Amino acid sequence: MERYSILPNREIVLLKSTPCFWGKCIFCDYIKDNSTDTAAINRINREILNQVTGKKRALEVINSGSCFELPAATLSAIKEVIVAKNINKLYLESHWQYRSRLAAMRDFMEIPIIFKVGIETFDDDFRNKILNKNTHFHDVAEVRAYFDSPCLLVGIKGQTEEMISKDIELLIKHFNYGTVNVFTENTTAVQRDTELIKWFSNKYGHLKKYPDIDVLYHNTDFGVGERKENNNEQ
Ligand code: SF4
Repeated sequence: MERYSILPNREIVLLKSTPCFWGKCIFCDYIKDNSTDTAAINRINREILNQVTGKKRALEVINSGSCFELPAATLSAIKEVIVAKNINKLYLESHWQYRSRLAAMRDFMEIPIIFKVGIETFDDDFRNKILNKNTHFHDVAEVRAYFDSPCLLVGIKGQTEEMISKDIELLIKHFNYGTVNVFTENTTAVQRDTELIKWFSNKYGHLKKYPDIDVLYHNTDFGVGERKENNNEQ
């Protein structure tokens, strides 16, 4: 498991955390990285954070859940690294249900935070009834009021070209930041739609021109995580 990487515009660490409060999204098996041993989590996270150099002045912290599931000592360690390495921009991830706590986290870290949220799709039925995401909002404006950067999921059987086109359109129109994760098959029963992914990569190759929209064709494209092989490489 790789837990530290450096991207063109930021460093990124994959930390360990306590269990995701929800843990029921049908496509998710990375919650297997969660632990209830807080002392071990803090020890491991300190070692990972020690690798941060501050070279890019920006740091992304991900964990298999929300940043609010990181123990307090880990949050303090992140803040120490921010100060020690002169970091001036932080990327964190949170489930929609923690939206009322984002402001407190912004206050605690004392530097600008790009908050990412796993929206997966703006199609409410697919997001909640199929993916079981437990993320209910009225419209894009409500998401934008809290979060800076939606994460979208592309290439799951049952998704349609229309659904994906609308998602990408909303992302570009309303947000400066975003992540598009092309689904990688994992230990869940969820299946990848390779035809849909081919269509997506042909139609949306131009997303590369948006420096703050990341398109990940593999779950390890950020250089962290555990490599899973796709049936049909893109
Ligand atoms: S909220 Fe995130 S970490 Fe939790 S089960 Fe869903 S995808 Fe997995």
